[in-house]
Amino acid sequence: MTDALAARDLEWALNTPELEEEHKKINAGIVRTRFPPEPNGYLHIGHAKSMNMNFSLAFKKLGVPAESRRTVFRYDDTNPEAESKEYIDSLKKDLDWLGWKPEKTTFSSDNFDFLESCAERLIKAGKAYVCFLASSEVEAQRECCKKRLNAISKGLDPDKEVGDAGGLYPGRYRDTGVEENLKLWNRMKKGFYKQGECSLRMKMDLTSANPNMHDLMAYRIKYSAHPHAGPGRCVYPSYDFTHCICDSFERIDYSICTLEFETRREPYFWLLKELDMYRPKVYEMSRLNIEYTVLSKRRLLKLVEKTVRGWDDPRMPTISGLRRRGYTAECLNAFCDDVGATRNSNLVEVGRLQQHARVALADKARRCMGVLTPVKVVCKGVAKSMLKVPDYPQAPEMGEHDVEFTPTFYVDKRDVRAEADSNFFGFAPGHLVGIKYANIKVVVDSVGPDGVECHVVEEGKPKSYVTWVGEGGLRCEVREYGNLFTVPEPSSDWESEVNPDSEVVFAQAMVDPSVSELCDSKGLDKWTSNVSFQFERIGYFVVDDDTTWVHGQGKGNIVFNSIVGLKEDKAKLAGEGKGKGKGGGGKSSGDAQRAKQAAAKARLEIPLKELFAKDPEWKGLYSKYDDDGIPTHDKEGEELKKSQVKKLKKEYEKHKKALDKKK
Ligand code: ATP
Ligand code: MG
Repeated sequence: MTDALAARDLEWALNTPELEEEHKKINAGIVRTRFPPEPNGYLHIGHAKSMNMNFSLAFKKLGVPAESRRTVFRYDDTNPEAESKEYIDSLKKDLDWLGWKPEKTTFSSDNFDFLESCAERLIKAGKAYVCFLASSEVEAQRECCKKRLNAISKGLDPDKEVGDAGGLYPGRYRDTGVEENLKLWNRMKKGFYKQGECSLRMKMDLTSANPNMHDLMAYRIKYSAHPHAGPGRCVYPSYDFTHCICDSFERIDYSICTLEFETRREPYFWLLKELDMYRPKVYEMSRLNIEYTVLSKRRLLKLVEKTVRGWDDPRMPTISGLRRRGYTAECLNAFCDDVGATRNSNLVEVGRLQQHARVALADKARRCMGVLTPVKVVCKGVAKSMLKVPDYPQAPEMGEHDVEFTPTFYVDKRDVRAEADSNFFGFAPGHLVGIKYANIKVVVDSVGPDGVECHVVEEGKPKSYVTWVGEGGLRCEVREYGNLFTVPEPSSDWESEVNPDSEVVFAQAMVDPSVSELCDSKGLDKWTSNVSFQFERIGYFVVDDDTTWVHGQGKGNIVFNSIVGLKEDKAKLAGEGKGKGKGGGGKSSGDAQRAKQAAAKARLEIPLKELFAKDPEWKGLYSKYDDDGIPTHDKEGEELKKSQVKKLKKEYEKHKKALDKKK
């Protein structure tokens, strides 16, 4: 009996010297991978990781020089009912947008004739048979196989203990003769049978410990036209039948898939051995999962049908959703590089993705001033003036834009409170507040339902400089997004865990008019533009596809989506939108502080030597450690720089002290 995962060492996986020789000759120094999505939904960030692996990381790990790398983009399209032209098109769009350049684009369905000829060869070799068991009977047969194996492992007689499930084991169609099977197979193809009436099954090994060796289905009947191949067929090959043959046929060297396919290696190699075809090397890596979202096309489709506005809704973890949310291709790829390849389960914090967005946007997103919920401020003792504001305060040489200051202006509700408060540095009665860029200070006279009244003063040092929008500000809609789910790991009851407040709309927001030209909807190519801004002191925002603004005419709407807050603890913007948040000048969020305290407490449980291997802050980042457990090599196996090690040593000493104190 073989272990379910034993496929790793399967003799079948080995190519004959002849096959090896032939493959070498054909590929001539080229190393080839493939990315094989099924066009049954839009691609999500898990696929971005898979692309990153197949187009880049795998080659880096293998040390393949750039000129020898090839990746096939293959539509794994064998399931016509679930697939569509819309999905086919979207997959390509997303792949292009991410910047990957496939060697060629193929469709499994282009090989339907070849696949059918393989099926015929298999039948002729006595390794496939037409089976008329109903699907419930096949279930029962598989169950019986498992029970029999169980009995054997306990040293019992399976015939006595389990029996044959009413004649289903090993099943009455297994021994049909070759001629008869060929006849039945041809009838299947010609439409003699109803959907579900029969299937072509591979004659594998019902005594294998791996259930995926229990005569998997090769072909099933479906009376559906195919979105790519068109009408005219009623039998379609299964994933297990198709995938390995296409890999081999396309001369793939490394077939990389996710861990749930590990038990499918055995049938993968079994079939290629039976067909005497080249066996690629198969690797599995863990699926990427991200907190507070789901990454399965089936679930995403349900969200599209019930919860969000579409596959590209900015809350969706799809490539198109993330694009619309303002994430750049560069940012998503950097994130995938960072997550890397592991076989450990891979639940990544949203914060990690958001941090990459901040890094990608910091130098790219032009600054402007915006307010989400405007509160009117009337200021005495000052006149209109035109100000020069730097596009990027950290790099003034990059240019500047004009902003008009007006004595009546607008600030955000978060920067206004009715009562004075020593922890709050925004507008409250009696407070001294600075007005950003205008180079003035004001003292607040009153805060009332109509807004704030204040007057300019010469003396004093304000604790904060508040951002604002003048009277000429453009009205816009700002959509702020929170997590799509209320729990980090949505459960099987995931539909009840959808966050009802994942979108908060600020319909009356304002932004300084200097952005007008950049927001022009005529000038925007929605797919590539991704025009984003940093609203100073608030966060990053991208111009949404719904924008209809026409610069110069002053017509249409501007819609912004929140991408990410400026700091990690501001990431929960949607919550703040409902007025729960802290004022602009307030102290850092209590939640973030509590999280820090919790992390410090948890760290005290980690032995000194295991600090860098176990603590979530560093876990997974390194591949080698010295005798004290201080990392020496990063996760890709590269030696760390001296300065990096020095920093880590400091952390080590800190942890040592903390542990000593605990004792
Ligand atoms: P889904 O359940 O989302 O449909 P899938 O695995 O069925 O996922 P495919 O379109 O068949 O999706 O996947 C194409 C490739 O992307 C496969 O190699 C698959 O292993 C990989 N992939 C899919 N989801 C993830 C993920 N979350 N993390 C890493 N790789 C993934
Ligand atoms: Mg799938």
